[in-house]
Amino acid sequence: MSEQKYKHVIAVAVDGGGAFLKVADTPCFDRIFEKGAVTYEALSSRPTISAECYGSMLTGTGPEIHGLTNEIVSTRQYPTDSPFPSLFRRIRKVMPDAELGSFCDWNPITYGIVENDLDVSHDTARDEQLTPLICDYIKDKKPVFLFVQMDSVDGAGHTFGYGTKKHLDRITEVDKLVNDVYNAAAEAGILDETLFMVITDHGGYQTGHGGWTDGEKYVTFGAVGKGVKNNAIQEMNIRDLAAIVLYALGIESPAFEEQGWTSQIPADIWEDAAIPKYRDISHLTGAAPRISKNAHTSALI
Ligand SMILES: [Zn+2]
Repeated sequence: MSEQKYKHVIAVAVDGGGAFLKVADTPCFDRIFEKGAVTYEALSSRPTISAECYGSMLTGTGPEIHGLTNEIVSTRQYPTDSPFPSLFRRIRKVMPDAELGSFCDWNPITYGIVENDLDVSHDTARDEQLTPLICDYIKDKKPVFLFVQMDSVDGAGHTFGYGTKKHLDRITEVDKLVNDVYNAAAEAGILDETLFMVITDHGGYQTGHGGWTDGEKYVTFGAVGKGVKNNAIQEMNIRDLAAIVLYALGIESPAFEEQGWTSQIPADIWEDAAIPKYRDISHLTGAAPRISKNAHTSALI
């Protein structure tokens, strides 16, 4: 391990939020990341569907490598011997006693992308019900790594259309929940030692997603914590979340390899000469688009 930069890393994923956080009213996001590194032009995975996207965030590979689809993650536990283990497995390997948590409204993330033999704390419920459980968990356990997924914004997109007032209003509601999670870290007394992030998996077009229109492919990312530059991130892909988390915890990432680990640390988050130059991986994002019209768990609107 190299230097552990943060004792705690919290990542909150807003499903179906795309880059719409930029146009929605998000006073909490704006305040939390005022001094952080932010982009509304990070690239999603292709196809822009949740399992493909979370698979990328948590394994540091593209969909053509991890092979996960909504159907697969909903029906099969993630193999414990995959050559592309989840971030949780990579952390567990070097931090055998670390408290790790996965609190997702869309529970197939916890069962279908995170291996089940890692002693990861978890719970699932709709966003509004899950958030108090997450806050209690943070205050009680002070996790080393916590992954959160909120699903209701995607549900509103499927029901009312992405970018419509009702979709944007739902983002504003989830913004308050993100704030609750952030405040819980403050109440737990760990905020000074925490890297706090918000990410979206994909956006949408009309009432679906899966394709590669701007509304679908551009996503939001924000990071804040000690040492994070106050910057607009120029280039980022959602699979970079994996490299970011490992770097923050002082765990070495696998070597970049086009047929495997393609997660990188964007150039504009930290000042560190040891961070390799960011590579253009656009030629690796060519999987055929499929269109998803179905919300997964999101009836909450
Ligand atoms: Zn969806």
